[in-house]
Amino acid sequence: TLHGLARHGEFEWHLPMTSGMRVPAIVFGSLELVRAMDDKTLTQLRNVACLPGIVRAAMAMPDAHSGYGFPIGGVAAFDPAHGGVVSMGGVGFDISCGVRTLLTGLTRDHILARREELADALFRAVPSGVGRGGTIILEGEDLAAMLEGGAVWAVGRGYGQPADLGRIEDGGRMPGAVPGHVSPHAGKRIRDQLGSLGSGNHYLEVQWVEKILDPARSAAFALKEGDVVVSIHCGSRGLGHQIGQDFIDELAPGGKARRKGKNAAPNPYLPVPDREMVCAPIDSEPGRRYLGAMRSGINCALANRQVITHLVREVFADIFPTARLDLLYDVSHNTCRAESHRVDGKEKTLFVHRKGATRALGPGHPDLPAALRGAGQPVLVGGSMGTASYILAGTTEGEARSFSSACHGAGRVLSRTEARRRFVGRDLMESLRHQGVFVRTMSSRGIAEEAPGAYKDIDEVTSSAAGAGLAAPVARTLPLVCVKG
Ligand code: 5GP
Ligand code: MN
Ligand code: MN
Repeated sequence: TLHGLARHGEFEWHLPMTSGMRVPAIVFGSLELVRAMDDKTLTQLRNVACLPGIVRAAMAMPDAHSGYGFPIGGVAAFDPAHGGVVSMGGVGFDISCGVRTLLTGLTRDHILARREELADALFRAVPSGVGRGGTIILEGEDLAAMLEGGAVWAVGRGYGQPADLGRIEDGGRMPGAVPGHVSPHAGKRIRDQLGSLGSGNHYLEVQWVEKILDPARSAAFALKEGDVVVSIHCGSRGLGHQIGQDFIDELAPGGKARRKGKNAAPNPYLPVPDREMVCAPIDSEPGRRYLGAMRSGINCALANRQVITHLVREVFADIFPTARLDLLYDVSHNTCRAESHRVDGKEKTLFVHRKGATRALGPGHPDLPAALRGAGQPVLVGGSMGTASYILAGTTEGEARSFSSACHGAGRVLSRTEARRRFVGRDLMESLRHQGVFVRTMSSRGIAEEAPGAYKDIDEVTSSAAGAGLAAPVARTLPLVCVKG
């Protein structure tokens, strides 16, 4: 056996039930992927299965690797009526980090001769790298309006078009945001940063559709072989990180606020020994407060990707005046959402944490826009700057398997430190260029950390997700231009 896991099908593995686990812990993936997972990822998954109010199972997607508290690639749903919790480490620090993909109406042939120019123009237009911000200044009421309004706010300010909103989860605005629960320090960290990519793993990539894997769904997504798409991966910048940190400081044992004596009472909400599993009951004062702040973080990320979309459209309008950058879809992969799911034959409202995991609604789901309802929700999966990325679609089986969730990327195999030891940023950029990928970045050190070799095999990850019934492959894309954070 591998890590003591029991096989429950070709792509499904269960951890042995140990004391404290309230539900099974399930890993989805091929034998090769599961064999390569480290013990820390599985220990974290087991910790998740011990949390109060967890429903059905703690789950790890095929791209899972270890993170803060919960594994990245972790999915867990909690029932507020049974002591269910919300956890900062279950959402992830970059609240509502996600991927948005734009169609362009261009083909690879249009782009090839002007790749260099396009790469330079995108790099100039969209701020990237640590701390590099933009021209929008957000303070006071403007900040609160953005945190409440998300992409709806951005469109109202002239960034993008109303038609975009139907192609964003929740119509571009997460309800229930309470900007008053976001600390002033967190607010300051977005002050001049809206419309920026941030660092490292985030990217703005021009890709071409190398292979159509599902003709019917591709038609619904308006994708054809040879088409060019733009993929934007980023989140809520420093604001989201600070929201997570603020609540961890308040609620973790030995957290900063406690050390300062500001909140000396022991946290009654911490159920497991790992201090990184900080959480609060959904139905509690700090739980509600975190949800109000976290939803503000979601709106911040939705607004951020909307503003970046506007900047990308300006660049394309300059270079390719015939291009039409319509939004295919925008999906977040670091969230906790209140959703309706069927449990033991009853519809229930559950708080579904997806950390480094993508929602993947199946065909017919009422929350999908009419044009996508027949095909299922687009699931946008990054690979790396030197390999394929994928567009998948949610499945009907996914609801029962994983609360309609799937993988969000290839997932790391090497830590950032290890990747820096093994790869040299400048050399990588050179070899990518020979491969036909034009990379632009503020940080060549960041490039080493993001080397294609630092990630799992994206084909293996997506075929595992498909094999497990979590999502259906629709199209495989390859990179042409990548602006890296
Ligand atoms: P995360 O949100 O966990 O930081 O990253 C999501 C996924 O994006 C990673 O698991 C990785 O597979 C993918 N990824 C990272 N860098 C790039 C890139 O430059 N281009 C593409 N297409 N995917 C990337
Ligand atoms: Mn991400
Ligand atoms: Mn992120």
